[in-house]
Formats: sequence, C-alpha cells, structure tokens
Amino acid sequence: MNIIVCIKQVPETTEVRINPETNTLMREGVKSIINPFDMYAIEEGVRLKEKFGGKVTVLTMGPPQAEAALKEAISLGADEAVLLSDRAFAGSDTWATSYTLAAGVRKLKEYDLIICGKQASDGDTAQVGPGIATHLDIPQVTYVKKIEEVKDKTIKVERMTEEGYEIIESSLPLLITVVKEINTPRVPSLRGLMRSKQAKITVLGVKDLDVETANLGLCGSPTQVAKIFTPPARPEGEKIKGTAEEIVVKLAEILKREK
Ligand SMILES: Cc1cc2nc3c(=O)[nH]c(=O)nc-3n(C[C@H](O)[C@H](O)[C@H](O)COP(=O)(O)OP(=O)(O)OC[C@H]3O[C@@H](n4cnc5c(N)ncnc54)[C@H](O)[C@@H]3O)c2cc1C
Repeated sequence: MNIIVCIKQVPETTEVRINPETNTLMREGVKSIINPFDMYAIEEGVRLKEKFGGKVTVLTMGPPQAEAALKEAISLGADEAVLLSDRAFAGSDTWATSYTLAAGVRKLKEYDLIICGKQASDGDTAQVGPGIATHLDIPQVTYVKKIEEVKDKTIKVERMTEEGYEIIESSLPLLITVVKEINTPRVPSLRGLMRSKQAKITVLGVKDLDVETANLGLCGSPTQVAKIFTPPARPEGEKIKGTAEEIVVKLAEILKREK
C-alpha cells in the first residue's frame, strides 16, 4: 500500500502573529513543530504500512526549514520525504496550497491513500485536505477516526460526526483527513532517529512540477485577506439564580424582553 502523508510545519504556539501590512502569518522567531493533527496522520500511515506493506512518503510545502518536520516524520517510521519549496509558492492561500500539493502528489505517481490531518493549528481552515482531493479528482472522507478494513482496492472507514459516526466504504485511491481519536502516535525509536539523520529529502520547485505558474503563491490565491483582527471579548452573560420554576419564569421574561 503506497501512502502519502501531507504534513505541515506550524509555529509551536497557537497565538500566531499576523503581519499588519501584508495580512500574512509571521513565522520568524517562533519554534516550529509538526502540526499536531499530522502526527496522527503519520502514525496511521506507518501502521497501515506495517500491516499491509508498501511505503509511506511524507509531503510538505514550505520553506527550507520544513525539512526538519520531514526528518522527524522519518524518525517516526516514514520511508521517504518530499519538500515542495520555491519562492513562487510563498503567500499561498488554501486553494493555491492544495493545488501545489496535488501537483506534488501527481509527481509521486503511484499512491493508494493520502492522509492529512483534520486541520492545521495555525491556518485552522481544514480546507487543504479536501482541496487536494478535489484537484486530484479522487474521493475524500474527512474526520476519519478508524480504518476498519482495506481489501481489494477498497477501504472502509469510520467518520466522526457530531451525533456519532458514519461507516463509509470507498474505492482507492482515496484522501482522508484524520482526527486525534484514530490512534496514539508513537515516540521515535533510536533506529528511527539514526535513519532520519541520514535521510535524503527530495526538494522540488516550480520547474519540477506540472503547474501553471499563475495558480501559485500569492498571485494564484483567489482569497484576499482584507483585514485580520482579534475580536473584542464578549461581555459576561446574565446569570439567573433560583429554583427551576423561578428560572423558567425569569428566562421567559428575558426572552420576551429581547424579542
Ligand atoms: C485567505 C488566506 C490567505 C493566506 N495567505 C497566506 C499568506 O500570504 N502567507 C502564508 O504563509 N500563509 C497564508 N495563509 C495560510 C495558508 O493558506 C495556510 O497556512 C495553508 O494554505 C494551509 O491552510 P491551513 O493552515 O488552514 O491548513 P488546513 O487546511 O487546516 O490543514 C489541513 C491539513 O492539510 C495538510 N496541509 C496543510 N498545509 C500543508 C502544507 N503546507 N504542506 C503539506 N500539508 C499541508 C495537513 O495534513 C493539515 O493537517 C493564508 C490563509 C488564508 C485562509
């Protein structure tokens, strides 16, 4: 089973700073980690490989420093790593990011399953996984919490919903996004750490991909950020005290008053 795991390097803090002039994320001076949801994606990929054979390739789009995230993924059991890095990719919104990652996937040719995290802890949109599947024109299942079965080029997964879960069967290749309920990520082994030190990362730029340059980076991003700000804290609500009967009467009065 050939598995591609898309991982994103994110700032360790959830309090990302925004450049007020360009309205883009400021990553300088902040320690970077693998997006926490992507740790579950890596673990699931490695578990599937251990069960069915094949290989796990980790793929990221980012600056040269994102190599560290790929090396960490190798220490956790991934076999190969590809970094999509080019100045032309800078400033991508989720559409341009998923377009570029889809081009990276096409370059890898053979794959059965693409695994993404549910969402990134900085951008937080949860759009990139579904975006990659759309660009590749393959099926997708989001919020996967369990892989039930893989058989004869089909896969059965459990998908988390607000009320419970759905069981979905799909043909392969498929893209899934995973939630943290799916597994417990392992810690790297000594052998894994040694392997990651020697690992060679494949770096691909614009000239290596079959892409329209007009679709890349800030220019290729259809979303324009007009303004980013922290919304003011909401004022504290009104607490109603009393017996159940008193509370019901008071609440009805308030609802009437507020129309
Ligand atoms: C309108 C808009 C404008 C933006 N402009 C800029 C900008 O100018 N500069 C800038 O730096 N950022 C910008 N961003 C942020 C950038 O678009 C996102 O960081 C990026 O597209 C990923 O989206 P996300 O963080 O919401 O990931 P999500 O969609 O939440 O991520 C879900 C999953 O997709 C995968 N994934 C996401 N990103 C990557 C990646 N890079 N490589 C591999 N896998 C990935 C991971 O598996 C991840 O768990 C912008 C975002 C928006 C919404």
